Amino acid sequence: MQTINFKELTISEKIMKAVDDMGFEEATPIQTQSIPYLLKGTDIIGQAQTGTGKTAAFGIPLLEKISPNKKDLQAMVICPTRELAIQVSDEIKKLSKYMNRINVLPVYGGQPISRQIHALRKGVQVVVGTPGRLMDHMRRGTIDVSHINMVVLDEADEMLNMGFREDIETILKDTPSERQTAMFSATLPKPILQIAKKYLKDYKILRVAHKELTVPKIMQSYIEVKQRNKFELLTRLIDINNPNLSLVFCNTKRRVDEIVQELQGRGYFADGLHGDLKQSQRDRVMNSFRNGVIEILVATDVAARGIDVDDVEIVFNYDVPQDEEYYVHRIGRTGRAGREGQAITFAFGKEVYKLKAIERYAKTKIKREKMPSINDVEEARFNGLVQQVGQIVENENIRKETHMIEKLLEEDYSTLDIAAALLKMVMGESKQESKKTDTAIKENGSEPGMARLFINIGKKQGVRPGDVVGAIAGETGMPGDLIGSIDIFDKYTFVEVPIKHADKVLRIMGRNTIKGQPIQIEPAAAK
Ligand code: ADP
Ligand code: MG
Repeated sequence: MQTINFKELTISEKIMKAVDDMGFEEATPIQTQSIPYLLKGTDIIGQAQTGTGKTAAFGIPLLEKISPNKKDLQAMVICPTRELAIQVSDEIKKLSKYMNRINVLPVYGGQPISRQIHALRKGVQVVVGTPGRLMDHMRRGTIDVSHINMVVLDEADEMLNMGFREDIETILKDTPSERQTAMFSATLPKPILQIAKKYLKDYKILRVAHKELTVPKIMQSYIEVKQRNKFELLTRLIDINNPNLSLVFCNTKRRVDEIVQELQGRGYFADGLHGDLKQSQRDRVMNSFRNGVIEILVATDVAARGIDVDDVEIVFNYDVPQDEEYYVHRIGRTGRAGREGQAITFAFGKEVYKLKAIERYAKTKIKREKMPSINDVEEARFNGLVQQVGQIVENENIRKETHMIEKLLEEDYSTLDIAAALLKMVMGESKQESKKTDTAIKENGSEPGMARLFINIGKKQGVRPGDVVGAIAGETGMPGDLIGSIDIFDKYTFVEVPIKHADKVLRIMGRNTIKGQPIQIEPAAAK
């Protein structure tokens, strides 16, 4: 499997910028293969499993070929269902975010046709629709196909299964024969090849070829969980298993940043690794991980390639990987050097199918597990405490404490009461611990609503207020006018930022420079 950076594909700046906003770091294998051919104008059949990024594989070249100045309909994507038409249309809209005057419209049955006709009249360059509704519009003349230069059949096998063969052939017959045609499909049954022979020109079949990979013998499981509950699940699993070192894999840079921020906000020792970081920053994060300063490393596949740490106990797949091979690479980060390891994958909806494909490819078994409950978390903590108690009773001198308890007993409490009360105090403690970072940030002598931060460079290093505002606003994306007072001393600087941005500023600026100098930044000590 070979993948490349989007920058190596000849993609225009505007689309590159949108791809970056979407958090994509590297093109997936099917994108790596398809995009250059489609840009050249070659017809293709692209075969790849679900969830491998096929939409952008055709969406990017499709957009590259649109003339925004022309109002004519220039590209048509045919999808099997209304949901897919909406999804594909949304993804193409995101990709075209920085291109002016591009209109993308989904059309499907079940929505009043008059509304679609109204939208079409305004000039739509890309239409994404189900076969029946597309034909309907073509018959009515509300879709004019005469300027179409690209037609994409998405999920072609699915459309054939649903009995759309005739409709598809009609559409292909009625669109200009000079058009470019692309078919995407998870499988390549005979009818697909027959259609290709009839309607595609000198087409290339692109498949994602895989190396045979050995899957490490580790415990693999998956848990079905909705996107919005994934973070809660992650923290529960971390609390239950209490791994010394763990890795969390995500599919996008943006997700890495989000999770790191949330984990840090809850008091976990976590940091992130992705392609936007400079080499020196990556080295710093990796060193902290190796030394155990960071216990949870959140990373994208690309960034994780260099990771070489032996005692990772758990690999979490926060997102199901884009490619089967990635899965094997990811879980190979644990269970090294003969240690036990486990891999837990979070999956929802169609991601579960993707996992089944991974199971087949990797010839491995990924066992389904249930979402652990809050009770499970408490039980795990309780068991940990019981172990600790046993160790202390056996190995430590607790004579002084025994006397103290004896005194309490004289006050007419039972040993059970006392033990239970102490347990409550101990069990309640870790919740407060997670609030620690909050209070550290809040109560440090700043204006109300603001957090005062300390930075270890000042006048001696030539720092001026503009440098501080510029660096913070530039790196964190927080508007500069939200930054409060800035006090610059000889060797250090205080700056106030809104409390709700403080975590982010600390995290991002901790890896950045001011006036080219690496800095340390932390909540200021209370005045
Ligand atoms: P498919 O059509 O192959 O089933 P999709 O195009 O729906 O897959 O993509 C699945 C998910 O992966 C989407 O959320 C999409 O935004 C995301 N995605 C696509 N390409 C990339 C990439 N290069 N890096 C990260 N995520 C991607
Ligand atoms: Mg798709």
